[in-house]
Order: sequence, then C-alpha cells, then structure tokens
Amino acid sequence: MSVTSIDAPIVVQKYGGSSVATAERIVQIAERVIACLVDHPRLVVAVSAMGKTTDQLVSLARQVSGRPHGREYDLLLAAGEQIAVSLLALALQDKGTAAIALTGAQSRMRTDNAFNRARIQSIDTTRILEELARGRVVVIAGFQGVTDADEVTTFGRGGGDITGAAVAAALKASVCEICTDVDGVLSADPNLVPDARVWPQITYEEAIEMASSGAKVLHPRAAEICMEFGIPIHVRSSFHRRPGTWIRQGVPEMEQPSVVGVTGDKKIAKVTLFGVPDRPGIAAEIFKDLADRELLIRLIIQSAANEAVARITFIVDDEVADRARELILVWKDKGIAKDGLVEGHMAKIAIVGSRLSSTPGLAARMFAALAREGINIDCISSSEMKVACVIAADQLDRAIKAVHGEFFGQSEPSSRALRA
Ligand code: ADP
Ligand code: ASP
Ligand code: MG
Repeated sequence: MSVTSIDAPIVVQKYGGSSVATAERIVQIAERVIACLVDHPRLVVAVSAMGKTTDQLVSLARQVSGRPHGREYDLLLAAGEQIAVSLLALALQDKGTAAIALTGAQSRMRTDNAFNRARIQSIDTTRILEELARGRVVVIAGFQGVTDADEVTTFGRGGGDITGAAVAAALKASVCEICTDVDGVLSADPNLVPDARVWPQITYEEAIEMASSGAKVLHPRAAEICMEFGIPIHVRSSFHRRPGTWIRQGVPEMEQPSVVGVTGDKKIAKVTLFGVPDRPGIAAEIFKDLADRELLIRLIIQSAANEAVARITFIVDDEVADRARELILVWKDKGIAKDGLVEGHMAKIAIVGSRLSSTPGLAARMFAALAREGINIDCISSSEMKVACVIAADQLDRAIKAVHGEFFGQSEPSSRALRA
C-alpha cells in the first residue's frame, strides 16, 4: 500500500549555525533538504543563525550596554535566525521547491515571559500543518518564541535544538534530526580528541547527562523534551547522509560500555563559603537566595561540619561570578557565612555513562589519569551517571585527552564501538 504524502510521517530536521554558515552552505542545505523530500515529503526544518551571527549580535549589544538583557536583547538575538530561515526558503524556492519561512511567532511557538531564557509553553501547530498540506517545506526560525503579549523571546544559547525538539514533539514527528558539523555524539569533542568514537546509539539519559556536562552537540532541554514525548533523536552530520547517533528508548544492549563520554566545561566559577553555621535551614536559605536571583548551580559540595561550622562549595557559570560575589556580602551580613571566595576561570571535567555506578574502579581510573598528567583535582562530585572533577581551566584540554585515553585508548575497545 502506498502512503499518500498527507499521511506520510512528519520528519523534523534542525540545522545548526555551523551548517548554514555561508550563502554557499545554505544552497547546499537546500539541496540536501530537497533530496530528503523524496523519502520524507512532510518535512519541517528548524534553522539556527548563520555561523557566528549570534556571537556578533551579543558583542554588538555589549558595545552599547553594560549588561544587555531583557526584551530588546531578545528582539536583537532573534534577528539572526530570521535571516537564516529567509535565505534557506529563498534557496529552496529558487530550486523549484515550495517552501515557507516562519519566525517563532509565525509558527505560533508560545513561551513564558522569561526573556533570554524563555521556556516553550505550547505550539499551535495549525499553521505548520496547513503549510505542509499545501506541499511546502516549513522552515522555522530556531531559538525563539513569542509570549501571550506578542513579545519576542529566546531560549538561551544553543536553543535552536529546543525548537527542533519541541516542534517534533508537537507534530508527533517520527524523528527529530539534529544536523550538525560532526558525525554524531562522540566519546569526546572530536575537535579536541580526533580519535573520539561515534556512538551508533545512546540512551536519552546518557545524552542529557553528557549535554548538561558540556557536550554542546545537543541542548539538554532538547533531549528532555524528546524523552518526555517519546520522539527519537538522530544526531548526524549535515555534510553527508551517513547515519549518526540515535538517541531513543531502545532494547538495552547486552554489554554497554561503562563510560560513554568524557566532557568538559570551561567557563565555570567556584564559590566557597567558609564558616557556615551547622544548623537546619542554612543550606535552604543559601540556595533559595541563589534561586531567587536565577543563578543556576552546576554542582554542590558540602563538607562535614567541624566544630559546628561547615564549608559549602558550589559551581556557577563564569559569567555570573560577579553576582555570586554580591551575594556573599549579603550572606556575611545575614550571618550565613563568615567569609566567601569566588574563583573564576575554573573548569569541570566529567565521565558519563549509565553503568557508571555499577562498575567499580572507574573514578579511580579517572583520578589516576589526571594524576599522571600532574593535574590537581580541586573538588570532586559524583552521581549515578557521572563523576566530575573541578580543575584549572588551562588544564582542561590536556585532562580530557588523558581521561579519554584511559577509557578509550587501545586498552579498552568498547562493545558499542565494535558494533558500529
Ligand atoms: P550546531 O551549530 O550544529 O548547533 P554546535 O557547535 O552547537 O553545533 O555543536 C556541535 C559541536 O559540539 C561540535 O562541533 C563539537 O565540537 C561539539 N561537541 C562537544 N562535545 C561533543 C561530543 N561528545 N560529541 C560530538 N560533538 C561534541
Ligand atoms: N543562534 C543561537 C546561538 O548561537 C541558537 C543556536 O545556535 O542553537 O546560541
Ligand atoms: Mg548547537
């Protein structure tokens, strides 16, 4: 039985900035999209701003404002994606393929009112479905939405993936393809570790953990949305048509490797509070103050109290280090801490894998690899799927290579990689 185009499953493809960096690349992506239409006649394409456009817009804003933020900042940043979708749709039309470019607002992507870090609340898919029914490729601007009051919002850096995932979920697409400049999800950033391995398949949980620990190939919120709505993700190269990494709830493999990724995060700051009174409610107050100021915490370590005082350490993004410094003064005033220290230019390295907690010796191997490189570990934290160490930022690249070598060097070929 043949499937009519109206019944064909919807496929959502997201092209990142590196895939549409130049006019020439946009023409190539148009050709790729047209080739995909043969198998997937109902195609929705989410697109990011060209190359470094968003960085340039951020830099422009910083030249006119000390701390650009809020409504106008979002209006500015959203412009990058508007350029990219318009060009891609023009390129498709030029090749005789019906296409329509839509901004976040035109694709009816409703968000909350949190400028610069908006969250999607709903997508009214009527317009998108109508355009698909007219036989058009629907090209949607990534990274942006609109509030009930018609204000333009953006989702935070790297948020184009969130658009792809949310559109795929709303349309119940058969797959959300994340088309990028690498071959899939690898055991480390291939730009740093050229012999990193491409996984044919990983779980949503592994993808989320890797993404939140710094693997920027996929936004963690995109993986969360697809997990929640049961949409398979296919992270693949936009430069060729070979398969990349599937992220989905699949039949577990018999012998999965314990470590699937070595990740790094360079732009972090470490905040240490000294002389924190050892009594109930203090930690709650500290982290409520941080939450009220919307400071995201990446990692928390509290040492056992000694003589009724404790030390609390946590990690924040480098860019909010100044705001953490302001808070320390508040806490000293309130008697929550005797003193505090914010150290910028730190980095975090992590090993990630769903079998981490059930495999003994992995943390020891990671620490030993760092020690062999003479790299000092500042603090350590671990969870079911991750062991993370804070180290000096200028040692991160060397640390990632050493730890990756420990787990993926000749000595431990992984079952998944062998099957690839
Ligand atoms: P896009 O422009 O397509 O959104 P990004 O630059 O956001 O692309 O993400 C792709 C980049 O993610 C790659 O170029 C690579 O340097 C980086 N990366 C970091 N860690 C990993 C990893 N474990 N696997 C694949 N890519 C990774
Ligand atoms: N253009 C936005 C950014 O550079 C969103 C994205 O690329 O995913 O952060
Ligand atoms: Mg990206």
